[in-house]
Amino acid sequence: MTDPIRIPDDLKPVDGRFGSGPSKVRPEGLEALSRVAKTFMGTSHRQKTVKDEVARLRRGIAEFFSMPDGYEVVLSNGGTSAFWETATFGLIREKAQFAEFGEFGAKFAKAVRDAPFLAEPTVHRAPGGSAAYLTAEPGVDAYASVHNETSTGVAVPVKRVAGADPGALLLTDATSGGGSLDVDLTETDVYYLAPQKAFGSDGGLWIALMSPAAIERAHRIKESGRYIPQFLDLVTAVEQSRLEQTYNTPALATVFLAAEQVDWMNAQGGLGWASKRSAESAAAIYGWADRSPFASPFVTDPALRSHAVATIDFAAGIDAAALAKALRANGIVDTEPYRKLGRNQLRVALYPTVDPADVEALTRCIDYLVERL
Ligand SMILES: *Cc1c(COP(=O)(O)O)cnc(C)c1O
Repeated sequence: MTDPIRIPDDLKPVDGRFGSGPSKVRPEGLEALSRVAKTFMGTSHRQKTVKDEVARLRRGIAEFFSMPDGYEVVLSNGGTSAFWETATFGLIREKAQFAEFGEFGAKFAKAVRDAPFLAEPTVHRAPGGSAAYLTAEPGVDAYASVHNETSTGVAVPVKRVAGADPGALLLTDATSGGGSLDVDLTETDVYYLAPQKAFGSDGGLWIALMSPAAIERAHRIKESGRYIPQFLDLVTAVEQSRLEQTYNTPALATVFLAAEQVDWMNAQGGLGWASKRSAESAAAIYGWADRSPFASPFVTDPALRSHAVATIDFAAGIDAAALAKALRANGIVDTEPYRKLGRNQLRVALYPTVDPADVEALTRCIDYLVERL
C-alpha cells in the first residue's frame, strides 16, 4: 500500500463534509446545543422547555416556506421513511399515481403497492438521470413525486397535475429538495422532509407542511374505520403537533439543531437566500464539470440538474471510487455515489449549509488528485 496522496491545506475546503444525508451540521448549531446541554438535553418533551423548541421549529419552517393560510406544520418521529408509511395509511384513499425516477421515489411507490387495502398504483418510471412526470388519470386520489431525487441528482418543479380529479392530493417528497430549491406551496398538498439534509440537523424526524385538503383527507380516512397503526396515525400527528409535541419521544438534539438551522436560514434571507446559495454551488460544480476533460454532469438535461445534490460522472480512465477514497483520506468525506446507481461517479451535496467556496475548493482538490492518482 502506498501512502495516500496529501492534498495541500490551502487547496482544501474549510469544511470537508459533502454528504447528501446526514449532511453538514453547522458548528455554530452544535455550539448552541452545547450551551443548552444541561437545561434542554435530558428534559421532558412534555414540558415547556422542549415544547418551546418544537414551537420554534414549526414557526421557523412556516416562515421559511412562506406557508399559505390554512396549511400546518406537522411533525413526528421516524424520518421520511416513517412518513411514507403514514401517508400510505392516512392520505391515500384508494389509488395513487407515482412519478418514479430513482431509489427514493421507488420506496414510497413500493410501500403503497404492498398495502393490501389500496388499489395497485400507477407508476410512471424513467431511468436514473432523467425525470418521470405525473399525468391526470381518472380515479387517482393522490399523486406523488419527489422534488429532488437524491439518488440521481435530478430535480423537477413542484406543480399540480393539470386535469386531475377534483380533490386529488399532491404529495411531494422534499427530503433533500426542501430548503435548497424554490417552491410555491400552493402547488402541492403535502411537502414533507426530514431535517438531516438541507436543514443541517440530525435524523429521526419527519416534518410535513400540509394543506387543509390534506388534513381533511386524513380525518376522512381515519373516520372510515381503516386499520391504522397508532405510530403511523396522521390525525394523531396533526393533533400532537398543534400542542408542540410529538406522539412519542423525539430526539431532542434533532429538534434543537433543526430549529437553530431554520432560524439561521431565515436570518440570512429565508428560502430566497438558501436557494440562491445552492444555485451558486451548483454553478460552481456543473461549470467545472462542463469544462473538465475528464468529468461531466451525469444528468444530461441542464434543466433537470439538481441544485441540491450534484452527480458527476468520470471518464473511463479515472476511478471515481479511488477518488472518493483519496478525498476521504484528506478529510473530505461522503462524496461516494448512491450505491445502487452503480456508476463511476461522485455525488456532492449542495445544501445551503455548504459554502459555495468549499464546493469550488472541492473541484480543485479533485483536479489535484486526478493529476496524481
Ligand atoms: C434521504 C431521503 C429519504 C429518506 O429519509 P429518512 O429520513 O432516512 O427516512 C427519502 N426521500 C428522499 C428524497 C431522501 O433524500
